[in-house]
Amino acid sequence: MYDVIIVGAGIAGATAARKLAEEGNKKVLVIERRNHIGGNCYDLPDEHGILIHEYGPHIFHTDDERVREFLSRFTEWYDFGHEVVAKVGDKLIPVPFNLNTLHMVYDKEKADRLEKKLIAEYGEGSRVPIMKLRENEDPDVREIAEYVYQNVFLRYTMKQWGQTPEEISPEVTGRVPVVISYDNRYFKDKYQSVPLHGFTPMFEKMLDHENIEVILGTDCKEVLSFTDGNVYFKGEQFHGDLIYTGAIDELFDCRFGRLPYRSLDFQFEHLNQDSFQGHSVVNYTVSEDFTRITEFKFLTGQKDCDGTTIVREYPFAYTGAAGETPYYAILNDENRALYNQYKELTDAFGKFHLLGRLAEYKYYNIDAMTAKAFELADNLMK
Ligand code: FAD
Ligand code: UDP
Repeated sequence: MYDVIIVGAGIAGATAARKLAEEGNKKVLVIERRNHIGGNCYDLPDEHGILIHEYGPHIFHTDDERVREFLSRFTEWYDFGHEVVAKVGDKLIPVPFNLNTLHMVYDKEKADRLEKKLIAEYGEGSRVPIMKLRENEDPDVREIAEYVYQNVFLRYTMKQWGQTPEEISPEVTGRVPVVISYDNRYFKDKYQSVPLHGFTPMFEKMLDHENIEVILGTDCKEVLSFTDGNVYFKGEQFHGDLIYTGAIDELFDCRFGRLPYRSLDFQFEHLNQDSFQGHSVVNYTVSEDFTRITEFKFLTGQKDCDGTTIVREYPFAYTGAAGETPYYAILNDENRALYNQYKELTDAFGKFHLLGRLAEYKYYNIDAMTAKAFELADNLMK
């Protein structure tokens, strides 16, 4: 009946579904637990008509022409250079920390001297991870590194991960390096956009294909079972490819213990005022219990609305309780080893493919996830 069953209608599942349906002429079934498509990219108008991102702010940013071209078939874009500021005392300073930030926090003479030093040390335009900057022994560079560590990274990271920057994978803080230029943008990619009419309409178009069927509001375990290396769909053996994009420990009832994740509690608020913060995203790097506030109209460019809607993000350790969602894999050797135990279980099923931020236990952005889905779909069509 189906050639491929895909669990999860996020960017991984939707991309793989479209490629396989269109280029491989495969009959694809997508099973989604939530009552909507789009995974964590899902957006919708709130009760005040303001387009919000239900699972936190999502900006599509990429240098990958193939990914941009593929998604552009399903949406036009609202392009912008995404900028973030951090609230430090009564100042809003640009993040990533860059030469503009340097000139905001030091007087002119000192900032000029430090700027020359940073350029001499690392080169103009370079991007230096904070943990690398902290290794520098020059007293001036150390002073900057200490400022950035204390005012940008330490408390934000403690909130987000419950651990210090030293305790988490350097890959994570390395996502927001110190930038030796006057570029205030959060990302360096050529394309920085949100879909002009929202992510959800983009997903609707992606999944709108005669070879794709989507069932919503269904946990895959209600229709799939796994015994003796065989996959069963509604009680009948399924011989096609299965692409699973959910959390792998859950599929096997957490038999080796839960894979650790960080979760977020999103607190939305609508305000009857034109603007709350005048910026799309403000990071709270030294105060408050939440990590950041997003003001959606500055992210989406929406003009036809009254008032403004914001969201605060409160991180916590995922426990698996009802209503909680795992958002961030906690990358370390111990967790990777546990992940590999689960992965080995799937090896018994020949055509079982793990794809996605949860299923691969990795920190993927939208573009990398799309590219990874291309790769898998291409392999399955060989
Ligand atoms: P998901 O989007 O999580 O989709 C997986 C889907 O599988 C979900 O819909 C889930 O309900 C479903 N599922 C799981 N288990 C089952 C089951 N048992 N049965 C049926 N269905 C199931 N990336 C960017 O590029 N830019 C950003 O600005 C950005 N911001 C982010 C902000 C936050 C707060 C978070 C958490 C992530 C952000 N990301 C961003 C990353 C981005 O969300 C991911 O790269 C992307 O969503 C991963 O897609 P996915 O399909 O792997 O997973
Ligand atoms: N980070 C920080 N302060 C900031 C921004 C980022 O400490 O102002 C650290 C924090 O540990 C965070 C990581 O850098 O988890 C990666 O930030 P990014 O904005 O990429 O996180 P995401 O948007 O994926 O949550």
